[in-house]
Amino acid sequence: MTQNAAESTRFNARPGDITRWSQTVIPTLREAPAEAEGPSHVLLLRAGYIRKLGAGIYDYLPLGARVLRKVSEIVREEMNAAGASELLLPVLLPIELYAGTKRDVDYGDLLFKISDRKDATYALGPTHEEPITELVRGSITSYKQLPVNLYQIQTKFRDEARPRAGLLRGREFIMKDAYSFHSQIEGSGGLNETYDAMYRAYSNIFTRCGLSFTPVEAESGPIGGSASHEFMVNCESGEDTILRCAASGYAANVEKCEIGARAAGTLTEAPSGELAEVHTPNLPGIVEVGKFMKVKPDRMLKSIVFQIDAGPGVKSDGAKWVVAVVRGDHDVNEGKVKTAVRAMTGNAKAAIALADEKAARAAGFAIGYVSPRTVNTVPGTLLLIDADASGGGFWASGSDKPDHHVKHFNWRREVGAKLDDAGYVNIADVRNAIVGDPSPRAEGAKLEAARGIEVGHIFKLGTKYSEAMDLNILDENQQRRPVIMGCYGIGVSRTLAATVEQNHDANGIKWPLPLAPYHVLITLMKFDDEQTRTTASDIARQLAAIGLDVLIDDRDERPGVKFKDADLIGVPIRLTLGDKALAAQSVEFKLRNDDGKGDLCPLGEVVSRCAAAARAGGLT
Ligand code: ATP
Ligand code: MG
Repeated sequence: MTQNAAESTRFNARPGDITRWSQTVIPTLREAPAEAEGPSHVLLLRAGYIRKLGAGIYDYLPLGARVLRKVSEIVREEMNAAGASELLLPVLLPIELYAGTKRDVDYGDLLFKISDRKDATYALGPTHEEPITELVRGSITSYKQLPVNLYQIQTKFRDEARPRAGLLRGREFIMKDAYSFHSQIEGSGGLNETYDAMYRAYSNIFTRCGLSFTPVEAESGPIGGSASHEFMVNCESGEDTILRCAASGYAANVEKCEIGARAAGTLTEAPSGELAEVHTPNLPGIVEVGKFMKVKPDRMLKSIVFQIDAGPGVKSDGAKWVVAVVRGDHDVNEGKVKTAVRAMTGNAKAAIALADEKAARAAGFAIGYVSPRTVNTVPGTLLLIDADASGGGFWASGSDKPDHHVKHFNWRREVGAKLDDAGYVNIADVRNAIVGDPSPRAEGAKLEAARGIEVGHIFKLGTKYSEAMDLNILDENQQRRPVIMGCYGIGVSRTLAATVEQNHDANGIKWPLPLAPYHVLITLMKFDDEQTRTTASDIARQLAAIGLDVLIDDRDERPGVKFKDADLIGVPIRLTLGDKALAAQSVEFKLRNDDGKGDLCPLGEVVSRCAAAARAGGLT
């Protein structure tokens, strides 16, 4: 190959790595431990990428560490290109850091806490909003120094209730977390501009990783804030449900997904019969009650009680409780209840949460047996009725009395005139979307469901942390104002596992080229044959020179064992050196993705053929 041709097929500024299997540790296993759940957990253990050290705690072996490095490098390049700067914050965080945000309490048992020899308490960082806010508070004072976007790639700790599926949900895991700081939301240098840049950077990152993914609209969850997207790797084994509309491209997670216009009842429909009370003792849930009463869940009303905390100094007009009513086969959506209550009361700051059971009982709610009639009996109660629960026909409902339900519940007869008071009663979308619901973005289209794995999450945080921690700046008019923030996470170790979930077969992993620990595997049929060894070294050197990483299987093992292991570890391009091929001045060339036997490739063409395959596989 000429110098120019070599230059034009170079993949990396620095040469690739050459590793000999006999000199590293790749402890492949015939069987995964019985407890392994799902393809990525099984295959990463079997192929010697990871090893379990404790619940949700894993060693990254040499192959695993190489893939992590490749994910991290892509993340770094795209974050840097988007104008972010890398830093590194401590993992060990003095608990006092949480004094302003109270997240040491809000995070609950998820937060790992430890104490030192003087009995001072520390948290192991689950994410780093507090330390970064503290850092920026000490470094930035004027709007002229903004915006900035700072990120790190680091180990995080969360005491997950159910660590599962290996790297998919660990208690110690690697995250890229970025935090941006702004003096305004709109315009040049504003939060929205950086948020959009991060959205593009995330799309670039997962595209470059070779993954099929869907960005979805999401609720911001315990971290707070107002707008967010999750990046989901498309995968039937994923634990998150995505709803999407093919016609408009709209996609959202279940917590967030809107529902298009639905026909609602008039709340004036005629009763289906006399209201009748039924004794329903010792029935733990709506399904059991339905069976006992011989009523299908879609003919039952589920009434869930929320409490409203208007917040200090905010006018609430005395509204204290919300009863959200959905059909028995639907689930109430807390975020939608919140939005509906805020719209109804005109109080954009009202905090709404599932009612504390004790307090709700004391106020007069028979929790577990609540009916919509409580809008008349418990002072300060608002009623939100989901469209699908608002019509006529037969309904069963709780009876506001422990261990009792009613049949033939009728809206008009049972609730009466309050139904006409929009200050108390509204028909609203307060349930989770499901497959087949009308699309919120395209008339006539329906929502479809798919599953995914959340590998990235971007949030608009607003001033939640800056207000709690006094991070203020002077604006153009010398006014002190809280800084506006965004935060952006990627599960680096989860991305590794999600890639395997999406790219494998019964025999092992099939790495996309950009994340493969090695691009090329050279297998020696006779490990101790001098000519074979020299040829392998020669080819490896040439491949490394154009930036490809090469693993040479020089172990003293039978060919059958080597081929099985090759399938298992999933290196995408395979060269096999045996007597027959060498006699023909060739090597056997095969891609992990091809089911066939491979073909002979003359020695002089091996490098260009590998380069072409690498490029076709998405390596740049
Ligand atoms: P999940 O809903 O899966 O618990 P999260 O929404 O709590 O995740 P974030 O706080 O958004 O997680 O963290 C950013 C990213 O870190 C997530 O998108 C995910 O990829 C990754 N991540 C979070 N928790 C874990 C974990 N226990 N193990 C591995 N990766 C994780
Ligand atoms: Mg998240």
